[in-house]
Amino acid sequence: MKNVLLLGATGSIGKSVLGVISQNKESLNLIGISFNKNVSRYQEILEKHSPDYVYVEDHDLFKSLCSKNKERYLNGDEELEKLIIRDDVDIIVCATSGFAGLKTAYIASKTGKKILLANKESIVAGGDLILPLAKENNTKIIPIDSEHNAIFQCLSGEKGTEDVKSITITASGGPFINASIKELQHVTVEDALNHPNWKMGSKVTIDSATLVNKCLELIEARYLFDLDEKYFDLVIHPQSIIHSIVTYIDGSSICQMSSPDMRVPIAHALSEVNRIPIEFKDLDFSNLNLSFQEFPSDRSKIQDIAREVCNKGGFLGTVFNAANEIAVESFLNKKIKFNEIYEVIYRTFDKNIVSNEVTIESINEVDAQTRIHAQKVVKSFA
Ligand code: NDP
Ligand code: MG
Repeated sequence: MKNVLLLGATGSIGKSVLGVISQNKESLNLIGISFNKNVSRYQEILEKHSPDYVYVEDHDLFKSLCSKNKERYLNGDEELEKLIIRDDVDIIVCATSGFAGLKTAYIASKTGKKILLANKESIVAGGDLILPLAKENNTKIIPIDSEHNAIFQCLSGEKGTEDVKSITITASGGPFINASIKELQHVTVEDALNHPNWKMGSKVTIDSATLVNKCLELIEARYLFDLDEKYFDLVIHPQSIIHSIVTYIDGSSICQMSSPDMRVPIAHALSEVNRIPIEFKDLDFSNLNLSFQEFPSDRSKIQDIAREVCNKGGFLGTVFNAANEIAVESFLNKKIKFNEIYEVIYRTFDKNIVSNEVTIESINEVDAQTRIHAQKVVKSFA
């Protein structure tokens, strides 16, 4: 039996993880969860899964929940750390959204446990901190972002990445795949949240619509697989069936396929020696039309920025991530137009940022400064 700590339990990934655990109760136990303030979803989780420990980020909510059961509820950075490093936690799922996930990924990377990583922002903003720490402490990071999990599966059985020629990361293209940036001026928040293939949290859904998600994923892949950005190609695959492709030096290309359902990569990552079963929608191979198209050329500037982040590392990813988070939040709050998301990133991105030592404190500082800068850019659009 493995004890799972699910960080970000009330979200979309959290729901998929709980689905896999429910179908594998003889091997997986939900020992603890964390969330911010979605109390109604939390009550459903409590009724069905009754985790022993519940970390609540929102202090007022914590206080009100705590009055009923003191032992169960936790709040504050120290308690969060104590929960993550508990001896009886075997697997940590990092599924908080956004930069807020960095502090948990940072603590988890030092534990020597198995981490299931969904929170790409922690790697983009803090890759130069998290990956070396995980290596030093023998912490096993298994990606559950579907593309990275696909790459991970395509690489298993190989001797590292020595024989890899290239890796193709697929992108659904989101709801606006056939529109140019110019045509996106008037899209509404509702249009942008209407993803054709995946049902996800709002931040990652907007990232998917702008294709910034793929740029974040390029940076995530560069860190997770420790390969130069030149190995990675981005390609549009509207059906979201092939989740990524690894091409070897002998000409073989290996891909991982499934219906677009996050429980598939999650089940793979939760398994130990053998695969674990889930109910899933079969692919009908006799009736499968798969297509691919080039990553749109009018998004090459944003891809170039991501490639620069891959090449230079340090705080560049912190800046890129923070600028994007402010831009997406401002779009969701209807302060800027959809295509101004790119402008906020371009005008905030500072490739000459001084590279001091990368520590959790310095990353937090650069993140905070960048947010202030990006907010000023947002105001300039008003
Ligand atoms: P959601 O917005 O659906 O859920 C986010 C979770 O994080 C919720 O439990 C939320 O709590 C919690 N949370 C948010 N802010 C904080 C905070 N400050 N402190 C503590 N907890 C917080 O996001 P998703 O599940 O869609 O995405 C989670 C991560 O996984 C993201 O990094 C995303 O990029 C990545 N990912 C998601 C995919 C998907 O299919 N959804 C696919 C691949 C990657 P509350 O509900 O209380 O606000
Ligand atoms: Mg993905």
